[in-house]
Amino acid sequence: MFDYLIVGAGFAGSVLAERLATRSNKKVLIIDKRSHIAGNAYDHYNEDGILIHKYGPHIFHTNSKDVFDYLGNFTEWRPYEHRVLASVDGQNVPMPINLDTINQLYGLKLNSFEVEQFFESVAEDVPVIRTSEDVVVSKVGRELYEKFFKNYTRKQWGLDPSQLDKSVTSRVPTRTNRDGRYFTDTFQAMPLHGYTRMFERMLDHPNIKVMLNTDYHEVMDFIPFKEMIFTGPVDEYFDYRFGRLPYRSLEFKHETMNKEQHLAAPVVNFPNEHPYTRITEFKALTGQAHPKTALVYEYPQAEGDPYYPIPMPENAALYEQYRKLAEATPGVHFVGRLATYKYYNMDQVVAQALTLYKKLTAPAEAAKPARPAIAGSTALVEKLVSRSPKGE
Ligand code: FAD
Ligand code: UDP
Repeated sequence: MFDYLIVGAGFAGSVLAERLATRSNKKVLIIDKRSHIAGNAYDHYNEDGILIHKYGPHIFHTNSKDVFDYLGNFTEWRPYEHRVLASVDGQNVPMPINLDTINQLYGLKLNSFEVEQFFESVAEDVPVIRTSEDVVVSKVGRELYEKFFKNYTRKQWGLDPSQLDKSVTSRVPTRTNRDGRYFTDTFQAMPLHGYTRMFERMLDHPNIKVMLNTDYHEVMDFIPFKEMIFTGPVDEYFDYRFGRLPYRSLEFKHETMNKEQHLAAPVVNFPNEHPYTRITEFKALTGQAHPKTALVYEYPQAEGDPYYPIPMPENAALYEQYRKLAEATPGVHFVGRLATYKYYNMDQVVAQALTLYKKLTAPAEAAKPARPAIAGSTALVEKLVSRSPKGE
């Protein structure tokens, strides 16, 4: 008899498996329909021996010392601050938009004060910021919105920014200084030996059994377990009772080039050209030395594996129906990006899973208001969830 059947061996499932097994001596079976652990963070060495991320670039960043320290139990870190260039008007310019972006794009020599005035002069007056278009035009005006955001977003989501919740483009700040980093979080690092190695260490415990290539539907009637933790799509769990929750998918095209370096930055975004949104050069993220280089191109798709919940009001309303049903389903706990239909980064999913662990292991306390341990962990997830994900 397993204490827990955990569906999905990504961050949400693996953090819970690790905590329950090592801290609470629970017997855990974790299953995944894929042939590997680590969920979308899975990385592996390609046929040329270059470490690549199968499901697109995964860059770790967080403001939570708790999350960083927790993962640090399973990996050493390689300090890494991410940088992105955007291909706009025939130039590669820094993204997020900053002082250098404006000077380079328009051939100017503005200082921080002047660029702030420039943004003020072009910004549109939007009384209530509701959509992803509002966020950008109210900060940098329509021209920059059209050059950097409009077409990228249409390509990435198959929707106009005016249809998407403000939270989507709010992920990308605007700066009047010359900070060219993509994120400004306190902790920014890559697992030294990769994500998969980190997950292997998390799951390496006699109380944890891992079953891969297995959809939970195939086995759940034959496996005795007390409770389930579900990290797959919540609408799938309930057989799409209220209809399908829309997810955006991607196709990843991996390529190896016979040269040491190809791109001018770790990632180059293409808002206005090509059917793909961005190209990533993995060695720039991992620091690996190799005579060849591996790249991935991301092609957004409507159909395929569910990668992104789509933040817009009608989807939030549909998810709310599933959330209520999930809450009223005894013995099953829903956690992670797909199971809670949230556009979460890795650190937010880790925080969410650590919070659920505390709730599971202190049910009596959880029912009472404001006990310090529970209050602390809830505050942690709320802090990570409510902040702008770039940490600004
Ligand atoms: P997942 O990793 O999706 O794990 C869920 C697992 O459940 C999957 O392995 C799936 O196979 C399994 N599963 C689903 N249904 C079933 C079933 N029926 N039976 C058995 N198993 C099932 N975050 C960052 O912090 N930084 C980044 O740079 C970053 N880049 C990203 C780039 C891309 C292209 C994408 C798509 C995401 C990115 N993320 C990034 C987000 C990050 O991937 C997620 O926050 C994190 O992986 C979510 O973990 P999870 O455990 O909730 O879900
Ligand atoms: N975005 C954009 N242009 C860019 C980068 C981002 O329009 O050059 C918008 C786009 O809608 C994207 C969102 O901002 O989906 C969030 O960007 P982020 O880089 O955080 O996306 P992720 O890494 O999660 O795919």
